[in-house]
Amino acid sequence: MAREYLKKATLTAQSGASDVQDIVQGILSDIEEGGDAKALEYAAKFDKYDGNVILTAEEIEAACARVPQKLKEDIQFAHDNVKRFAEAQKSTLVDVEVEVQPGLIAGQKAIPVNAAGCYVPGGRYSHIASAIMTVTTAKVAGCSHITATSPPRPGLGVAPAIVYAAHICGADKIMALGGVQGVAAMTFGLFGLPKANILVGPGNQFVAEAKRILFGRVGIDMIAGPTDSLVLADKDADAMIVAVDLVSQAEHGYNSPVWLVTDSRDMAEKVMALVPDLIADLPELNRENAFAAWRDYAEVILCEDREDMAACSDEYAPEHLTVQAQDLDWWLGRLSCYGSLFLGEETTVSYGDKAAGTNHVLPTSGAATYTGGLSVHKYMKIVTWQRSTPEGSKRVAEATARISRLEGMEGHARAADVRLAKYFPGENFD
Ligand code: NAD
Repeated sequence: MAREYLKKATLTAQSGASDVQDIVQGILSDIEEGGDAKALEYAAKFDKYDGNVILTAEEIEAACARVPQKLKEDIQFAHDNVKRFAEAQKSTLVDVEVEVQPGLIAGQKAIPVNAAGCYVPGGRYSHIASAIMTVTTAKVAGCSHITATSPPRPGLGVAPAIVYAAHICGADKIMALGGVQGVAAMTFGLFGLPKANILVGPGNQFVAEAKRILFGRVGIDMIAGPTDSLVLADKDADAMIVAVDLVSQAEHGYNSPVWLVTDSRDMAEKVMALVPDLIADLPELNRENAFAAWRDYAEVILCEDREDMAACSDEYAPEHLTVQAQDLDWWLGRLSCYGSLFLGEETTVSYGDKAAGTNHVLPTSGAATYTGGLSVHKYMKIVTWQRSTPEGSKRVAEATARISRLEGMEGHARAADVRLAKYFPGENFD
């Protein structure tokens, strides 16, 4: 049996992104030339904001005071989980030292970048969790300066819960600038900020394009497109839970693909029958997003068996991958292309998005074929070093001199020769 599409997308994440590059390049050039004043102009234009840009201690305190106690506790809970997980990741980055030849020692060190710029999206929804994910991880990595920036609401500034999250997670500066102007201010070192060494965090197409253009002069975590999710469900999965999970991810945006991959026609039909009512039951904005995402981008694929389901999933390389099927260990061993994997119906992408501890800044649009998501490692530079005794230098000097001469690099060869002559006077090296 060949794979059968019971629902096929009419659009993909790449559809309709035509003039964004020119728009973003224009804004970046303007701001690089015009500095703080130009960034403020764009804040007024796009976010109707003319308030303070770098929040003062008093503004941070006032915002924190507006956050309900229960939400503070939830943010703290999520922060603690993300921190615990990031610390465990960091412990895998060990310094290495190896004697590659007698007397010749090579080593590796992991050094955090100095300044991190964390983008916290806030156009459509207030992504409190993005502040937790990006700032906490930068802090654990050991970055010495962390800026968190998020779009201000007209007359209100950054959402208080985002300010609270960024503050308790360890941001040194919190900035009220969204979109390209936020990214530009961190990269160019506007408003008294240090120039960022790395830009991290999700955002819309303008934010993603700004990071893509700036990559090279500044590091980035990844270029994130619209969020996408795939659910693998066998015949025994709970159709209602599968349907709710698909809808929960379709609400991200009108162009957020969700895919159901199953080997059970009965399961597929049950889920497809449930989804429209679940979408209709959402609040208005979420309903519009999920409706369009389901109509234009969603797919339901009927596969032959679980091996075919796994192969199909790896081809999509989804950002979020959920398995609601028997034998979770088999799936964990078999699947290889995903940003974050959610095994079993007892967990869900929402847990990972908000509070479970794994990072929610993840590769989209198939990028999971070559990268994982945001982690402590993205903030660290793996650098190497070497040293040698004079004896350890002998063999490597001979090899270096000969290789260099064959390459035509006489200066390199002489850097080896001079050592041989100094440490082993009178010996003949050809
Ligand atoms: P955002 O903060 O990314 O963007 C808002 C900014 O866009 C505004 O401040 C404004 O400056 C700019 N903007 C708006 N219209 C513009 C225009 N015409 N020209 C230039 N700039 C313009 O917030 P958003 O729009 O809600 O997008 C958030 C995105 O982040 C969504 O796509 C969501 O799926 C994604 N997200 C992804 C993850 C993940 O881990 N992959 C997590 C959270 C959010």
